Amino acid sequence: MGAWLDVFWPHSHALPIGLILAAVLWMLQDQWRTGQMLRWLRNDPPVENAPTFGVWGEAATRVRRLLRDRDRQIIDSQARLKDFLSALQASPNGVMLLDGDSRIEWCNQTAAAHFGLDTERDMLQTIGNLVRDPGFANYLASNDFHSSLNMSGRDSSSAHPVTLSVQLHPYGDGRKLLLSRDVTALEQAEAMRRDFVANVSHEIRTPLTVLAGFVETLQTLNLDESERQQYLALMAQQADRMQTLVSDLLTLSKLEGSVLPGFDTHVAVAALMRQLEADALALSQVIGIAGDTDHHFVFKCEFDGELAGVPSELFSAMSNLISNAVRYTPVGGHITVKARQLAGGCLVFSVADTGPGIAAEHLGRLTERFYRVDRSRSRETGGTGLGLAIVKHVAQRHGAILTIESVVGKGSVFTLTFPPSRVVPVVVAGAQTSQETLSAQLGAQ
Ligand code: ADP
Repeated sequence: MGAWLDVFWPHSHALPIGLILAAVLWMLQDQWRTGQMLRWLRNDPPVENAPTFGVWGEAATRVRRLLRDRDRQIIDSQARLKDFLSALQASPNGVMLLDGDSRIEWCNQTAAAHFGLDTERDMLQTIGNLVRDPGFANYLASNDFHSSLNMSGRDSSSAHPVTLSVQLHPYGDGRKLLLSRDVTALEQAEAMRRDFVANVSHEIRTPLTVLAGFVETLQTLNLDESERQQYLALMAQQADRMQTLVSDLLTLSKLEGSVLPGFDTHVAVAALMRQLEADALALSQVIGIAGDTDHHFVFKCEFDGELAGVPSELFSAMSNLISNAVRYTPVGGHITVKARQLAGGCLVFSVADTGPGIAAEHLGRLTERFYRVDRSRSRETGGTGLGLAIVKHVAQRHGAILTIESVVGKGSVFTLTFPPSRVVPVVVAGAQTSQETLSAQLGAQ
């Protein structure tokens, strides 16, 4: 071979030529490895045929490590994003992300329900095209998002109004965060509060005006003694009315503010019934003509045990039902009050009367404060419009259910059904509540 090469290249040229050949071979191999590396890198993700040794081998190892780190970071970021979106999904409020052109980038299910959107179909749609409420369109166009906007929810109807509080918060480069909150209950509570204040003011103003009129009359007119007594009696009546109203208001506020009744205080049902009967007869006499009892009463206590709860509250609820029966049932009417235990253990306390009855459309609203069917009869007989609201509260606090059945022209039956957990069936010998004990219990509350 050496001799053969010597024909072309004299011996003195053999070394440089060998070096050149080696360099060319090295370059060719390098080129091939570079190509191999590039092919490997172009294949995304690079999976096979990576150079395994030499400089390129090390470069491939490092690239592989970087890629693994990148993959891990992507997985971590994706998990974090998923957690973050799950947290936003769990929010009870609506959350929506809008891009610089007010197109929906993302929204949670609550926001979708608030605005009637489809979380997939409506992505990248302009919010102004989907939410057509004029107030919202103006708010969006105003670019002044310092305060929130109240608007009707998608499912709002006159029977079931839904009010949303909506606020936009700009962030990033022209993006906006849209937060929405269902404030229907808050609005209703606020409206109820306003109505309540207006009603109380009205209820107090009426007797106050009458009282002020009588005071003026007494001051300006020269009345004889019998006239003076007559005016003073009327004034006392109005003062009584205000007192009853304030006392009912205090009872209601106490019921709302105090802890739920426990099971450690009991009241004997028979003693309670005796007290209620005495009060009913007295009230009937007051209302009756010439001090006579105007109603036919039947009081039947078919239960010999006790009821667990707050005695004064239980008495107040039952007494309100009986007082209504007496006040609304005309002369000669029948009033039947019963306490009995049902087979399942519940204790039922019922008041039935043969009064005017109540039309079905009023039944659902009777326990609202100041709701009255017969306004003039209520006022004439000293009603405050709060009696049944008190009954409902007491019932709720004791886990009892108030039911009202009524037929116009025939009469009404008001029933309180106490759960077995509040019923103590057998009175321990000698522990039966005496009338004095009951009076003390009622007075102590
Ligand atoms: P009030 O102080 O006006 O009696 P209530 O809350 O006790 O207020 O009762 C609400 C309304 O329900 C009354 O104004 C009356 O119109 C009606 N009502 C209550 N009980 C009876 C009844 N036994 N018979 C007929 N109407 C009744």
